[in-house]
Amino acid sequence: MTSDLAEIAAVSARPWHSLDDTEVEDRLATHPGGLCREEVRARLARYGPNELMDDAGPSGLATLLDQVRSPLVVILVVAGVVTALLGEYADAVVIAVVVVLNTTVGFVQERQAERSVRALLLLVSPRARVVRDHADWEVESRELVPGDVVLLESGARVPADLRLTTTTALQVDESALTGESLPVVKGTAPLPVATGLADRTNLAYAGTTVTSGRGRGYVVGTGRQTELGTIAREVSEVQQTATPLQQRMERLARVIGVVVVGCALLAFALGMIGGRAASEMFLIAVALAVSAVPEGLPVAFTITLAAGVRRMARRRAIVRRLPSVETLGSTTVIGSDKTGTLTENVMTVRQVWTADGVTHLTGIWDGRTVDCAPVMGPNGHDRTEPRQLTLLTGILTNEAEVVQTADGIRTQGDPTEAALLIAASRLGLDPDEEREAYRMVAEVPFEPERQFSASVRQRDGTRLLLVKGAPERVLAMCDAMLTGHGPVRLDHDAVQLAAHDMASEGLRVLAMAHRVLPPTPVELDGLEEPSGLTLLGLQGMADPPREGARDAIAACRDAGMRVVMITGDHAATARAIGNELGIAEDDAAVATGVEVEAMDDAELHRRVGEVDVYARTAPEHKLRIVRAMQANGDVVAVTGDGVNDAPALKAADIGIAMGKRGTDAAKESADMVLADDNFVSIAAAVEEGRVTFDNIRKVVAFVLGTNAAEVLTIVIALALDWPLPLIAAQILWLNLVTDSLQVMALAFEPGEPDVMARSPRGRSAGILSRVMWERVGITSLVITVGTLFLFRWELDQTGSEGIAQTAALTTMVLFQMFQALNVRSPSRSLFRMHLFANPLLLVAIIASIAIHVIALYLPWTQYLLRVEPLDLAVWVRATLVASTVVAAAEVHKLLRRDGEFAS
Ligand code: ATP
Repeated sequence: MTSDLAEIAAVSARPWHSLDDTEVEDRLATHPGGLCREEVRARLARYGPNELMDDAGPSGLATLLDQVRSPLVVILVVAGVVTALLGEYADAVVIAVVVVLNTTVGFVQERQAERSVRALLLLVSPRARVVRDHADWEVESRELVPGDVVLLESGARVPADLRLTTTTALQVDESALTGESLPVVKGTAPLPVATGLADRTNLAYAGTTVTSGRGRGYVVGTGRQTELGTIAREVSEVQQTATPLQQRMERLARVIGVVVVGCALLAFALGMIGGRAASEMFLIAVALAVSAVPEGLPVAFTITLAAGVRRMARRRAIVRRLPSVETLGSTTVIGSDKTGTLTENVMTVRQVWTADGVTHLTGIWDGRTVDCAPVMGPNGHDRTEPRQLTLLTGILTNEAEVVQTADGIRTQGDPTEAALLIAASRLGLDPDEEREAYRMVAEVPFEPERQFSASVRQRDGTRLLLVKGAPERVLAMCDAMLTGHGPVRLDHDAVQLAAHDMASEGLRVLAMAHRVLPPTPVELDGLEEPSGLTLLGLQGMADPPREGARDAIAACRDAGMRVVMITGDHAATARAIGNELGIAEDDAAVATGVEVEAMDDAELHRRVGEVDVYARTAPEHKLRIVRAMQANGDVVAVTGDGVNDAPALKAADIGIAMGKRGTDAAKESADMVLADDNFVSIAAAVEEGRVTFDNIRKVVAFVLGTNAAEVLTIVIALALDWPLPLIAAQILWLNLVTDSLQVMALAFEPGEPDVMARSPRGRSAGILSRVMWERVGITSLVITVGTLFLFRWELDQTGSEGIAQTAALTTMVLFQMFQALNVRSPSRSLFRMHLFANPLLLVAIIASIAIHVIALYLPWTQYLLRVEPLDLAVWVRATLVASTVVAAAEVHKLLRRDGEFAS
């Protein structure tokens, strides 16, 4: 008893890397079948979630300070204090209310936008494969607890600190932790206690990435208890960068702020020299300042972007970096993977070829059920026959699982491999039985770079080396092929012709080969490059194009974008699928990875403009292709899923990772993640990107137009030596109360019908196009003249400054309403648009007019805003005057139609 306790104490004092499997299991109270659900729950409660820090985002206070620091608020606060000192308490109160209101609206909007972006990111939060209750599960990494059994494969981010118990050629990139850029080979053997952190090869650390191979291990540390946690470095921080446009807007706002203050000071000085009272001049200066600052813009920007991000998410594209929303609209080339993105990645073996003949299998596997009746080919069921050995090799070099459930067949793992299992069952083999009969000795799992997988199996004292993979790759390892009468010399041409024929039908072709090994220990090194094999046969599998992919590709073409396919598959297969999808015509230009490699940069630059399909490419080719396209001035979006795709995803203007199939490494390098891996979602995201950019333009046109009109109105009135048509409080009212509702509503404008019919926006296209600047100028002039006209008219008629100012204010409110309708489309007539297409805008317009009417009649707003109730006749006159801005915009739309919107 004592010795037992002493032993336990000794074990628990030793570091994880020095313990053997059983000691690790004892100390963690776990076993290879994993923890049970109750135990996981209990441990989660005890150890907390597997997170480095609580990821609540920037604090409320930080966001609030951000709001308060804006130039606008600073100007307003100074103005408010001085106004109060001058004894103008009503104005001071209005300014104070406006500051509070503006800050609150900005704060709430910002928080909401942050929260929704964060919620979206959670959708792509890292997941881990675990064994619990003797079954294989995928769970969120944050739910891992010490004692969990975690499975690793290439591309996975190690979710917690693991003590490895099984590894197959496992290599891990630990640069995030140690700075060492070369991958570290991992093993399982216990190490001396004194081994340093970087040499503990039987541990896999949280935050590092598996570059190749497979592994399995027990979680020994989670969250802050991990090595990464102890150095407390955040690895995958949420991207919060401002978009280029946003930065440009913020700079513009700052410049406007400075200019405005300068002008206001100048006006103040001039007024003083001209003999006006200091207090009056100060209020004029304040009025000028607040009229010129486009207060609504920053908030409008946030809202419009957030609305766009949300719309994209609804269409299965999750934006990880906000600038991509803008870049999407400028994309000129989309480089897409084939398998799983353009096709379903649901594979069905259609043909099994051997030197003796071909077996055709009918029926399409739909991911759940398939006609499982054995299909008879030219051969019988003797397992020495080439066909049966081809199928057997498909089973034994395979990591997938096929499980029969109540509602059909469920597959787990790589669909290519699952297809081989199903084909073998249909042709009379039982995968489970065979896997049991042929004991696994060693294996080399499939990696895209390698293009084959191999395993060594033993049965009744015979050891077999089995290989399956891309035909060119496997053929190069063979020197014989099997026929019904035994092995013969390899007929290279015949096999290649057969493979080519299958590929031309769009089938993915795998070759199977084997060799009998001497009963000596297996050298794993030899497995990396096998030779002297005998070819057994080929299997060709179909992978149907995704529904809607063809239409989406056509839509991208109409939108002025090229779609090219970049795939690891064979050239003939890729071309056939490309033709089917309309990516390429019959004589499509196809380039293989080998050809890309042979080209120098100059030639590649020339060729990327013509090639539609890249086949048998490796990730480094993808990177070169992306770079070459960019050098030609293209804005490139590219998809990727593997760990080695990360550099290409980073280099591209828009890196797109697959949400389901993609590895953690790919997702973390991407700008956007597709929740459904589907190409159709890319086209949808481009469309939404364009709509969002259009809406930003609409909002900017609206805000700038109405603000410019306010400045002009004040400046011209001063120049004419008129009384002020609008006082500071009224201008603030206009900018921050009545028009802010419309700004928010404009963020939700549905897309223009031609959004996917025009060419991509130039990369350097400004916020507004030339035509839009013209229209902003013209309409703000109309608003200015109209407001001044009515002000003068009412002043002359009634002699009351109060009534004239109220009339001017009301005219402005109505002008804003019409202007909001004008900017809904930059080219289409207002009368051709569906009034209810954006119900929010209607609500906003009605609400802002209602608020204004109420303000005219409530005593305290009357006092604060210095407004008076108006006669019906004044309302009619104001409405008539305000409607002229629609006429002006319509005439301009007629004269300067279309085409230039995109420029
Ligand atoms: P992409 O997704 O880029 O369109 P892909 O997924 O079709 O490419 P890879 O997975 O890189 O291509 O596969 C490349 C080649 O490797 C295939 O054409 C096939 O010949 C072979 N291959 C694919 N999967 C396996 C596998 N599980 N085992 C052995 N060989 C495979």
